[in-house]
Amino acid sequence: MPLEVLENAALRPFNTFGVDARARFFVRITSTDELSELDHHPLMGGLRRLIVGGGSNLLFVSDFDGVVVKVDLRGLQEVGDTADAWLLEVGAGENWHGTVESLVASDRPGLENLALIPGQVGAAPIQNIGAYGLELAERFHSLSAWDFELHRAVTMALDECNFGYRDSVFKKDLASRRLITAVTLALPKRWHAIAGYADVANELKHRGIVQPSARDIFDTVVAIRRRKLPDPMCLGNAGSFFKNPIVSREKHGELIARFPSLVGYALPGGRFKLAAGWLIDAAGLKGATRGRAGIYEKQALVLVNRGGATGAEILALAREVQDKVAERFGVELEPEPVIV
Ligand SMILES: Cc1cc2nc3c(=O)[nH]c(=O)nc-3n(C[C@H](O)[C@H](O)[C@H](O)COP(=O)(O)OP(=O)(O)OC[C@H]3O[C@@H](n4cnc5c(N)ncnc54)[C@H](O)[C@@H]3O)c2cc1C
Repeated sequence: MPLEVLENAALRPFNTFGVDARARFFVRITSTDELSELDHHPLMGGLRRLIVGGGSNLLFVSDFDGVVVKVDLRGLQEVGDTADAWLLEVGAGENWHGTVESLVASDRPGLENLALIPGQVGAAPIQNIGAYGLELAERFHSLSAWDFELHRAVTMALDECNFGYRDSVFKKDLASRRLITAVTLALPKRWHAIAGYADVANELKHRGIVQPSARDIFDTVVAIRRRKLPDPMCLGNAGSFFKNPIVSREKHGELIARFPSLVGYALPGGRFKLAAGWLIDAAGLKGATRGRAGIYEKQALVLVNRGGATGAEILALAREVQDKVAERFGVELEPEPVIV
């Protein structure tokens, strides 16, 4: 069947902020053969391209005058092992949380700290998703992708992805150039619980669990996240809207002298990561509403669509947050979602 290209397609179902925007063209990819066909399609010559997974880390501020490529590649299979890890290849279109849950249930633990992160497996490397003491990079072996400049499939190993804090080569040099088709995860053969993160440790204590299993960590993380974060099905959002800023030791010293309750963590090398949520809260913005956009009452790091907000309204609020935090603390906040 030839590739189906939709024109003037609604993007609201494809972003968890729930904002209205339209794509000039929209294509759904369900097999790697279709990628080769798409690459040679006349449309791909002069138009911009946007790859979309679950839309949980995107903010559309206008219509997209190009081709939106929605990834729908499925599959999960064990493809071998190394001395330390089981290797599992997962299709880019698989749901991330569903994959974590099924792996924990089938005795392949290792991703449980990343439970309930929305979106698809193929997007996980883009910002090196992380939560509760674990980042994807620690469970990553390699990935397969389609390169729209080389016009062929490529594979990439861990050291080619330049993973950093909510960052990778896919946010920079390779943005929109490589479409990830599958991710090979490396799950530890000798598993141990990662339970040092304060929220996780407290919740386990509260539940009376001393030696948590992977399932216990999974359940704990799910419970914490359900309490703290708004469900995008009920209140549009993209999770944390800003990265936690990293500052020098001097800057941290100066801030803590002025604001003794400042929340920050020392990083190896002497720098400090500040809790962006604390800065926004201390700037008096937690719970704020501007038109139909707002800041979540329970977590100042989350911008929300209170119903019918446009991407531009949400972005204007984000700019206000950046300005107020810069004015009060002299710290720049960098947005985490991709703004389109
Ligand atoms: C309630 C909530 C909580 C969240 N919590 C966390 C958290 O704890 N930690 C965290 O790291 N993130 C978190 N996020 C952000 C988000 O869930 C992740 O970044 C997720 O990986 C995005 O997946 P997605 O499929 O929705 O990507 P999309 O939003 O569709 O896309 C995000 C970016 O990835 C690119 N992309 C998507 N798929 C592919 C592909 N196959 N190939 C190439 N490029 C691709 C897109 O072009 C875009 O640049 C949260 C979001 C929400 C709504």
